[in-house]
Amino acid sequence: MFWEEKIETMQRSDLQTLQLERLKQTVVNAANAPFYKNFFAKNSFDPSTIRTLDDARRIPFTTKEDLREAWPYGLLAVPKDELVRMHSSSGTTGRSTVIFHTARDLDAWTDTLSRSMYMTGMRKADVFQNMMTYGLFTGGLGFHYGAERLGALTIPVGAGNSKRQIQLMRDFDTTVLHIIPSYALHLSGVFEELSVDPRRDTRLRIAFLGAEPHSEKTRGRIEEFYGLKAFNSYGLSEMNGPGVAFECQCQAGLHVWEDNFLMEIIDPDTLEPVADGVEGELVLTTLKREGMPVLRYRTKDLTRIIAGPCACGRTHRRIERITGRTDDMLIIKGVNIFPVQIEKKLMGISDVGNNFQIILERKGYNDHMIVRVEVTKELFSGDLKQLESLRKKITEELRSDILITPRVDLVEPNTLPKTEGKAVRVLDNRAD
Ligand code: ADP
Ligand code: ZN
Repeated sequence: MFWEEKIETMQRSDLQTLQLERLKQTVVNAANAPFYKNFFAKNSFDPSTIRTLDDARRIPFTTKEDLREAWPYGLLAVPKDELVRMHSSSGTTGRSTVIFHTARDLDAWTDTLSRSMYMTGMRKADVFQNMMTYGLFTGGLGFHYGAERLGALTIPVGAGNSKRQIQLMRDFDTTVLHIIPSYALHLSGVFEELSVDPRRDTRLRIAFLGAEPHSEKTRGRIEEFYGLKAFNSYGLSEMNGPGVAFECQCQAGLHVWEDNFLMEIIDPDTLEPVADGVEGELVLTTLKREGMPVLRYRTKDLTRIIAGPCACGRTHRRIERITGRTDDMLIIKGVNIFPVQIEKKLMGISDVGNNFQIILERKGYNDHMIVRVEVTKELFSGDLKQLESLRKKITEELRSDILITPRVDLVEPNTLPKTEGKAVRVLDNRAD
């Protein structure tokens, strides 16, 4: 059942003792980095004054901007020759940030992934097809080494080339996939085009979905189409990458690996902690990284803690699937909307296809939202009335949730832009 039973099922009090010990080490080590040395001096923070886990709240927050400013080596806490790997973030919201690892850092990171994959039921006998980009992006290599350590045959195919992906799945009896959810939806269209049914023609049984927000509806669609169990995988390059939080077989929230990360959830406006169960911004501190410790990193990701024990027996606390990033939030006519809300509604409607796009425009002082939705090909060849009634239904469903009325345009499959990496859902044409 467990990859590292002792750690995964540790009593909370022991886990907290371990966290405190590692927090103290991390903060003292961080002071070796030029960035934190200055940062501590500027904020009059003395690293030797951490005595309890609550003392972590006295450490100033680190932001993505701080990491950008410390480019390239400002956050290194060890001599450069101790490093063995560099990674970088995807740069979704601006210039990407870089992360460095020592050999021990990579070892710890790999463990969190083997542990996560094992937790979902993946075993040595599985064949693992890693459909994430290799290279600077953390999703490829992170999972790659985790799967190898688990002992599974690993196919490092990387992203893209849908037909080859399907061929590999069939020829080598792939059982486990690591895939971006929007790409999994897109790929289902390619399966259909080729008249290949993954339930009949492949041995797929598990998928890891990560790198972008997605709703329970999307998970449901993917599980249904591929005939497998899909598990949510969360991480960010500043905290290694994948392997920060992962779903267990209960599929009821993601366990945060608290022996590696100290977790806080704060109100993004007041910066004060919120109560368990209340949504806020996730803040993380590395507890086991020596090359480049990062303290109280504001992830900008919104989630909440799911209180109480998990039926799987693991004691590491769970978080709810991520709603979105604070900077993903769209403000239209004074209403706050996350793209995933729209995704959730659309993926719950059966005639809706696998892709959509949100376009924002400004006319005079008014903002308008246009939602372009791919629908099944058959609808375009059939009765126009059917198309119109679907358009009305989508408009109404969206309006009931987001409280503004978007213009809905229905388009044929494969007409909207798609990416091999994270989906770009929003096109904001509002000139500032
Ligand atoms: P960037 O921040 O430039 O996108 P990363 O590749 O490090 O670079 O991406 C990490 C971010 O991706 C997270 O902060 C989060 O916003 C998003 N993300 C990763 N996994 C998930 C997931 N399972 N659910 C929702 N969002 C996710
Ligand atoms: Zn669990």
